[in-house]
Amino acid sequence: MVVSKTVSKGHSVTSAAKNASVDPNSIRQYFEALTPMLAQLTEDSSKECKKTVAQLTDSLRHLQDTMNRQSAEIERLRGALEGELQMADHSRALEEAQALTHLGSWEWDIATGKISWSDELYRIYGMNPQEREISFEEFLGLIHPDDRKNVEDIIADSFKTGRPFEFEHRVILPAGDECILKGMGKTVYDSHGAPVRMLGTSQDITQAKQLDRAKDEFISLVSHQLRTPLTIVRIHGNILEDGLAGPLDPQQESHIRTMTSASIRLIELVDDILRISRISLNRIRINAAPTNPNVLIQTCIDEAMPMAKKKDTTLTFEADDGIGMVPIDTTIFGEILRNLVSNAVRYTKPANGKVAVQFKKEKDGFLLEVRDNGIGIPKADRSYIFERFYRANNATVVDGEGSGLGLYIVKLFTEAAGGKIWLESTVGKGTTFYVSFPFDGMKSRHADDAVE
Ligand code: ADP
Repeated sequence: MVVSKTVSKGHSVTSAAKNASVDPNSIRQYFEALTPMLAQLTEDSSKECKKTVAQLTDSLRHLQDTMNRQSAEIERLRGALEGELQMADHSRALEEAQALTHLGSWEWDIATGKISWSDELYRIYGMNPQEREISFEEFLGLIHPDDRKNVEDIIADSFKTGRPFEFEHRVILPAGDECILKGMGKTVYDSHGAPVRMLGTSQDITQAKQLDRAKDEFISLVSHQLRTPLTIVRIHGNILEDGLAGPLDPQQESHIRTMTSASIRLIELVDDILRISRISLNRIRINAAPTNPNVLIQTCIDEAMPMAKKKDTTLTFEADDGIGMVPIDTTIFGEILRNLVSNAVRYTKPANGKVAVQFKKEKDGFLLEVRDNGIGIPKADRSYIFERFYRANNATVVDGEGSGLGLYIVKLFTEAAGGKIWLESTVGKGTTFYVSFPFDGMKSRHADDAVE
């Protein structure tokens, strides 16, 4: 009674009590306000009353401890709940992002063999999200039969070497349509270097590919249209230059020469663009047939000799007499070699230039080497040198007229024929380009249509 009377008098206690039902902290405040009042009562009251108050104080302290423990537990639970809500928000946002970009993700637990797919990945493959677990074999079975081996080889290689992987492949969807996917992934290792997981993404790039194709078609068409008028300009320029349409004074002759050489450069550029669009549109047929590489290479060297002589550069070919016949597409191989040799001659110094060509059998295939003692390629430029239109600064000083398309085409041709290309270079000392093919030689391939 005494307590309730005292409590009802204390304003702070009353306001704390009001909130007690909603907030454990308010209850704590209520007890904290009560404690000094009980202490006051103990001092003022009789022995009997003091005893009761002491018991009451003990009970209150006990109650207060319980409350403290409970509010700590509530705080802990609230933190955990917030964390879970955040996670749920993140995974919802991730799912939305995946659906928006048509990009699915997957994870392969190597120890259990379990493969988990994100919902979007199921949708990309034309299935219902999480409709069933997909095994590695089943995944391979979903890939277009012509692309399956390549995907399998790339994944196996990444598993062995630890290198991240990237590939494109087709999928025949349950409804019979075909889509193109771009896969990327990597292997995760434990602290002892053992592979534990593989994870990656797969994106539907069908639309982007269709747009690319439309762009290549357009470029191909425009280039075709440009080639004829440009050739007419060149032919008529030559007629004028040769005096077949009457004598020219020196100034007129100089103008005509500038005009014809510009038209020749334009024709070369258009031809390069046509080559690129034809290979992108899969309109280049590769027909590898048993060929004597020595004869083919010597023919290309003979063609390049006048250019080398003009620059006072020695051009040599060291033939390997025991090489035998090698499956080669002579046109494609000729394009690759001519490009590398003409670059080697162009980028050697004006005198004492040396360009040496070799074709030999190595332990894992055939290797073509084009070595020069020219200006070299600066380290910073090397990783971009096979990209279209890329030219290193030191090359633009030596020759202002290159297009930066030659090496891009060489790489496209080499890779389309199953080969690899790389280089070694030292600035001021020279460069060596290497092109390798397996012992099977160049890989034949059909063109999508007969346009060549
Ligand atoms: P282009 O020679 O018309 O510029 P390429 O695609 O054939 O185009 O070559 C791209 C660039 O690679 C060149 O501009 C040059 O910077 C570099 N390059 C190619 N071959 C050599 C070489 N043998 N020596 C030095 N630089 C080279």
